Amino acid sequence: MRSGLSSKRPEMQIISTAREAHAFAKGNRETVLVPTMGGLHQGHLELIRAARAAAGNEGRVAVSVFVNPLQFEPGADYERYPRPERIDEDLCRQAGVDLLFRPSAAEMYAADRSVFVEEQTLSQTLCGNSRPGHFRGVCTVVTKLFHLLAPRAAAFGEKDFQQLAIIRRMVRDLDFPIEIIPVPTVRESDGLACSSRNQNLSEEERRQAPVLRSSLLQAVELVRQGEISSIRIINQVRAQIGIAPSARIDYVDLVDAETLQARERVEPKSLLAAAVFFGRTRLIDNLLLA
Ligand code: AMP
Repeated sequence: MRSGLSSKRPEMQIISTAREAHAFAKGNRETVLVPTMGGLHQGHLELIRAARAAAGNEGRVAVSVFVNPLQFEPGADYERYPRPERIDEDLCRQAGVDLLFRPSAAEMYAADRSVFVEEQTLSQTLCGNSRPGHFRGVCTVVTKLFHLLAPRAAAFGEKDFQQLAIIRRMVRDLDFPIEIIPVPTVRESDGLACSSRNQNLSEEERRQAPVLRSSLLQAVELVRQGEISSIRIINQVRAQIGIAPSARIDYVDLVDAETLQARERVEPKSLLAAAVFFGRTRLIDNLLLA
């Protein structure tokens, strides 16, 4: 451990334009990127730690904060999405980030934009069903960030399992020379996955939200007892979530962790994934069953 080096790191740079991003990318030190929509929490900080570990002290860690309008379907929570700019900035600085890229929507998208990046298979299930256009927005913005900042690697969280799978597919199919670093889900002490959206929950909704995690864990127990039928597992999970009065299930699905296609029974690499509204706030979680 070469202690003391991090304290010598130059002050964090904050930029907001494509021009500045391209200039940063031209520097000859490697960059590891952490794309976010801000409202930073422990999950994001874990991604930043993973990025620093991958970059080393010589490399640069870049964090992008951009609430991407393209990935919010009409009527979703784009306007309500938290934007605590000053706090995010401080958290990045404390975490030893080298560059904070914080573009405006106008900087990222021309009014008459007409080119998009779309993954067409993995995007058809799970969140893709209930959020049409969401992953097209994600792939388009991540492509732009990859072009703008030219990272050697980028960190993504396993909480957004489908997103991670789609980004990996995109990187493979479009030949981005970028390593994708997966980061395990970070949770609050009661098991609820950290999410920027958690702050939109009322006190009562926050109290009920851990049922999302505990219902998935109950499925692990069922499998341990020998249950292999997807439908029975899904029904049990749905029933447990249903006990929470504020919960409204979007989906509970059991899929192959690689193809994300539905499975009738539990097999190796089965992923159980759920999306549930608590009031107006939609939360997701997942776990590998076998
Ligand atoms: P977001 O700001 O929600 O778009 O998330 C930015 C990145 O952080 C994505 O790669 C997410 O998967 C990741 N992320 C969000 N929440 C968590 C969490 N609780 N644990 C680990 N990674 C997370």
